[in-house]
Amino acid sequence: MPNSEKKNFTGMKVLIVDDTPANIDILGHFLKQSGLDISIALNGEIAQKIISNNKPDLILLDVMMPGVDGYQLCEILKANDQTKNIPIIFITARFETKDIVKGFEVGGVDYIVKPFQEIEVLARIRSQLSIVKLVRELERSNRDLKEFTSIASHDLKEPLRKVINFGEFLKNKITNVDEEGHHYIDKIQDASIRMNTLIDDLLIFSSVSTKEKTFERYDLTKIAQDSLINLENRIEKTQGKVNIDNLPSIEVDPNQIRQLFQNLIGNSLKYHREGTPPAVNICSKSCENEKVEILIEDNGIGFDEKYTDKIFKPLERLHGRNAYEGNGIGLAICKKIVDRHHGTFSVKSAEGKGSTFIITLPEKQNRY
Ligand code: ADP
Repeated sequence: MPNSEKKNFTGMKVLIVDDTPANIDILGHFLKQSGLDISIALNGEIAQKIISNNKPDLILLDVMMPGVDGYQLCEILKANDQTKNIPIIFITARFETKDIVKGFEVGGVDYIVKPFQEIEVLARIRSQLSIVKLVRELERSNRDLKEFTSIASHDLKEPLRKVINFGEFLKNKITNVDEEGHHYIDKIQDASIRMNTLIDDLLIFSSVSTKEKTFERYDLTKIAQDSLINLENRIEKTQGKVNIDNLPSIEVDPNQIRQLFQNLIGNSLKYHREGTPPAVNICSKSCENEKVEILIEDNGIGFDEKYTDKIFKPLERLHGRNAYEGNGIGLAICKKIVDRHHGTFSVKSAEGKGSTFIITLPEKQNRY
């Protein structure tokens, strides 16, 4: 391994599990020379003890061993939340396709057939350890982002709350404020409330992909109906009608999908044609590969489809704030939620003719 790369992986822990001491000697020797921290287990039981005491970054696993064999050990480790993310490379003399396929089926990330070339084994280990490092960096930057957003939201919202409260105080308690003064206080309060909503929406946007993965099988009809609770005022004000067909049950993060429906139905109610009460229809179709398509159709003002990419970006709007209130984050949140559910998000629309937002979601999340 060149010196620069050696440095990158120095101290990373590799566990070799093999019942043949001679194999361990060969592997252990050249891996130690590469700066890796090597530990050794002569069978599956010892391996489990070592792993629970000192989690390795990577496991090199022989298949044929007495007692718990390599495939079984791999399955045990993959079923445990503490160990499921440790990459496992099988190193074995079994070279038939069915053996190799089984190695991947039980959760291995790579398969090396003995006799091996040292340089090849090193290249494969390096590539897996690079992924381990990248994932850790990503987790760290997610943690930093979470910390930053929670501090920023608190620090931004606290003074804003004061502006809103003191504005209220000025309006109610100070008697010698004239009409013009009241007008300006109202403007300050409107702007502060808008900023408060903007901070809340940006927080939702930034937290979508940093949430723990909590997918469960849920009835989408019920989630869509629940999303109407926060839209009651808008429905009443616009005399809108929202029809929700029977939707399927699929694996989702229910809070995020409620947010998705709320944003999309909310927009359909908001961007309605003057003089025409909004009519929103939500229905679904099942499609190939265990996926479902959900359609949110409206009879609103629509827009030119050439702006589709633009409206999925944060803070982008096609209509002015004076005509329709908003901050341009709603659809960006929807797009992120759909991405996190490994789905696709598109829209068909025409000016004056209404819009149909189309979401495709997989029925199950565990294969991703
Ligand atoms: P907001 O509604 O706060 O502006 P969104 O991100 O939800 O933000 O939407 C972005 C833009 O996409 C809106 O400003 C509007 O121009 C357009 N848009 C979204 N939904 C619809 C809809 N159902 N009908 C027409 N235009 C829409």
